[in-house]
Amino acid sequence: MEQSINKPISTFHVMAKPTGARCNLNCDYCFFLKKTDLYPNSSFCMSDETMEAYIKQTIETQNTPEITIAWQGGEPTLMGLDFFRRVVAVEKKYAAKETVIVNTLQTNGVLLDDEWCQFLHENNFLIGLSLDGPKHLHDKFRHDKAGNSVFDQVIRALRLMQKHKVEFNILCTINSENSKHPLEVYKFFRDECDAHYFQFIPIVELDENKKVTSRTVDAKQYGKFLIQIFDEWVKKDVGETFVQFFDGVLMSYIRGFSSLCVLQPTCGQGAALEHNGDLYSCDHFVEPSYLLGNIHQLNIVDLISSDQQRSFGKEKQTSLSKHCQSCKFHFTCHGECPKNRILKTSDGEENLNWLCAGLKAFFEHTHKHMQTLSNLLQTGRPASDIMKTMTTEKNGQSKKIGRNEPCYCGSGLKYKKCHALQKDSS
Ligand code: SF4
Ligand code: SF4
Repeated sequence: MEQSINKPISTFHVMAKPTGARCNLNCDYCFFLKKTDLYPNSSFCMSDETMEAYIKQTIETQNTPEITIAWQGGEPTLMGLDFFRRVVAVEKKYAAKETVIVNTLQTNGVLLDDEWCQFLHENNFLIGLSLDGPKHLHDKFRHDKAGNSVFDQVIRALRLMQKHKVEFNILCTINSENSKHPLEVYKFFRDECDAHYFQFIPIVELDENKKVTSRTVDAKQYGKFLIQIFDEWVKKDVGETFVQFFDGVLMSYIRGFSSLCVLQPTCGQGAALEHNGDLYSCDHFVEPSYLLGNIHQLNIVDLISSDQQRSFGKEKQTSLSKHCQSCKFHFTCHGECPKNRILKTSDGEENLNWLCAGLKAFFEHTHKHMQTLSNLLQTGRPASDIMKTMTTEKNGQSKKIGRNEPCYCGSGLKYKKCHALQKDSS
């Protein structure tokens, strides 16, 4: 292997696919299964040599106190537990004692058992468990290769993770079916699964004729889904449950920059690593024209810093329509993910996002709340104080507060100052 030129960069994110696109399920919307065509006759099994190169290069080229090593698929648990035992040994070999290594692993949960969960807990893995809601919604598009439901197996995995205190997020796609039942989905996760961390991933897919499929979420329904869950969350659950998209938007209000790639102005800091060491520009662009090279020939950091990847990253910004550039919510949306920019604007401009109508509705609906949350956090108050605001506003008490009295939102500021701040940030 060619040696790395030693130039640590602060952050990049690589998602490794140790089984490539190989999976034990056959979900209808899985964009990755057809990627098996990229590697005909492959065993889709990452060698220990490639695994070690990935970990070594990731650790040696990042200068952060915490480094993430990410595993996804296909279905990474098909590699077997011993592979991940070797992963942990390799990480210990290369990481400095003071560096925290966080392994993330995205799974459908079917293979998880007590032994897996014990290992995941002991080694601080953070799990992303795919679950699309209660059984009648989960089973719409997720099933095994024979078309059978795997819902009970996923719930079993969830309970095992809770028993062994494994940290996990629920990864829920928002598709044409479950998008019509936002509160049922949210309350199922919160109340029946007793889960606290959720990632909602909109399904937008095109068929071979470039038409959106019937599984694709309708844009307005996407907005309604997010809004109804936000309204429930902001009244009852702030500080208890965490929705990645809400946090990502809020970060734009607080810092002017989100950690979520879909809400960033450019792409390029997150790449996808295939089982054989091929590195691609992004998980959503595992295609020959987005192949950056192989990590056995060039170091990951060199591939991510390459002109090809820089130009991929900038394209998100340079291809943004004027419509988006003049949008009130450009500062947080940035036109969302380029893979979803499949519409034309009313002026005939290319590259409008399929989700735009829903995104805009969500941003508009939550704007005031995001400002309040931002003010609370910037003045050292817990975000959960917003729930007091909601109760006070509901009871009509805000009308009785004098301009020099402490604001009802709990920011600790005088009412007039707090509201001036909110106006400034609008
Ligand atoms: S293409 Fe989409 S998923 Fe990939 S980095 Fe850009 S915003 Fe993120
Ligand atoms: S809300 Fe719509 S118009 Fe505004 S930036 Fe996002 S995609 Fe563009």
